[in-house]
Amino acid sequence: MPKCPKCSHDKFAIEDITLDHDEYDLVAICCQACDCIIGITEPYNIALSVKNLRAEVQSLGKILRSYVELTSLRSQSAAKQNQAPG
Ligand SMILES: [Zn+2]
Repeated sequence: MPKCPKCSHDKFAIEDITLDHDEYDLVAICCQACDCIIGITEPYNIALSVKNLRAEVQSLGKILRSYVELTSLRSQSAAKQNQAPG
């Protein structure tokens, strides 16, 4: 079981931290007994974020393919109308 390097306590908690910049959201993993910072991590579940991004990209891909097919059909239709004898 992981232990705090300062006091050997074995319970930890996520704590908000203040950084000099706001570019990234980060939180500290701290010992519950002495507040020693054990590690820094992002407050998000990266795997879930990637899964959600993949679904959004796939959805955008479907929309883009539909748009390309539609504009292609319109171009073909316009070309046929221009070729038809008057
Ligand atoms: Zn500790």
